[in-house]
Amino acid sequence: MNFASELSRNTSFPICYNLLPHFTAKGQEYTALTKCVTEAVNDGRIHTFLLADFLIHRQGFSSLQLAEKILASGGEPVVSLSLTFNDRDTIIDKLQGYYRAGVRHFLIVSGDYPSQAPNKPTRPVSEIDSVQLLMLLDDFQKKGDIAKGCVVSPFKTFESEQVWQYEKLRRKIRVGADFIITQLGYDIRKFDELIRFCALHEIAAPLVANIRITDMQTARLVQARSIPGVKIPSPLLHTLHEEASNRQGALGRAAKVLAVLKGLGYDGALIGNHSTDFSEVKQVLDKAEALQNDWQNFLDELNFSDAESSFYYFRKDPQSGLNRGETASVALKHFPSPTYSFSYFVDWLVYVPRGPLFKLTGRFCHFCSTRKFWYTFLWLLEYVSKGVLYGCKMCGDCTLYACGFLCYQSGCPKKMLNGPCGGSSEGYCEVFPEKKRCYWVKVYHHMKGVNQHVTFVAPPIPARDTSLHRTSSWINFFLGKDHRKMNFDDS
Ligand code: SF4
Ligand code: SF4
Repeated sequence: MNFASELSRNTSFPICYNLLPHFTAKGQEYTALTKCVTEAVNDGRIHTFLLADFLIHRQGFSSLQLAEKILASGGEPVVSLSLTFNDRDTIIDKLQGYYRAGVRHFLIVSGDYPSQAPNKPTRPVSEIDSVQLLMLLDDFQKKGDIAKGCVVSPFKTFESEQVWQYEKLRRKIRVGADFIITQLGYDIRKFDELIRFCALHEIAAPLVANIRITDMQTARLVQARSIPGVKIPSPLLHTLHEEASNRQGALGRAAKVLAVLKGLGYDGALIGNHSTDFSEVKQVLDKAEALQNDWQNFLDELNFSDAESSFYYFRKDPQSGLNRGETASVALKHFPSPTYSFSYFVDWLVYVPRGPLFKLTGRFCHFCSTRKFWYTFLWLLEYVSKGVLYGCKMCGDCTLYACGFLCYQSGCPKKMLNGPCGGSSEGYCEVFPEKKRCYWVKVYHHMKGVNQHVTFVAPPIPARDTSLHRTSSWINFFLGKDHRKMNFDDS
């Protein structure tokens, strides 16, 4: 059975079992995981298993080993590849290794920022983002037998976070993502919003709902930020407190959520549990099947939205508690900062081919490119001026024009260039919770038009050429060396 093909068939609703061991408090044992896989395959309703790529897990087994075991059991692994720890060559090597072993499904994720234990600091790599990896995987796609999944969160609190999540999704689809898995979330209205957003923007890739069997213990892990960017809405927390340790409550709720999301139009589901007890997942599947015809009756009881504090893309339908077709009104634009206005003006003067100083600047950059003294002069001018204005790191491939004139190299710890990771919470950066705003939240406010969502003009930005590091981006632009690869010979 092929997960991606099954997702695309209207008549089936494939379930993927989430084996991501790092979501458990202590991690899971290899034997327990493989037992769970065997039981699931024997049950007949689950053939696909999501696992995270790790060279060696804490329990001493590798993800490749687990993927091979899943294949040998008659199941199908979906390997989640994280970009926080891998540069582009490493990730392609890994992908080839899994491919040789028979893995055909991959989930491309930004990855969590590593925790900074005082005696063991870990430095992330963050060389490319998920959109750029999808672009680099074009060669594999041409072989036609791998399926590339991507993730989106419809569960963000602010307009600035949410709209960028959706814009990044559109970029991922544009560069070849085959299916979409939601981030973990609990707001049914937001799940519905994602379906409507995809319909509005003609995104045909199948949607997979991420469902977790959630009790108070799971909630505590989430509250402790074990899964960045995920939060438990206050109404659900209240219910969990009332349930105390009643596991049946968690199983019944997961079954109802599964029935509702299938009813709403999701194409498949990813189900996770904080134990390797397959019998619990089996109970959820059994209950969901029994409840399926009544799914609309559960909408009220599953309404866990933080409606007062959250942004919703569409207007609310008071009858169902979900969404109507019209988009919601958005907040007014902030006044552009002086730096933004100045940068916009200078960009128009020198970088836009019809700008008044474009030709002159181009000629001067060509002149400087072959003369050491003048190259150094221009390099220093760029270094000082952009260092003061934007915290420029002289990456040599400037993308300020596409990011509201804010530098991603100095602004985003994960160096996300095509939109935010999923880790932001209440507008704050995953790496600096409650201290520093997410870089993309700031970009949104810089780019936003009056009374409307951001109008995105830049196409997906490919992985940058690292050989340009510490060179002049001004000269690189006019020589056609940066990511835009512009040819100005005729200008
Ligand atoms: S050249 Fe690179 S580091 Fe400098 S401002 Fe532009 S994007 Fe940032
Ligand atoms: S600035 Fe935003 S996109 Fe960058 S790491 Fe922080 S939360 Fe993620």
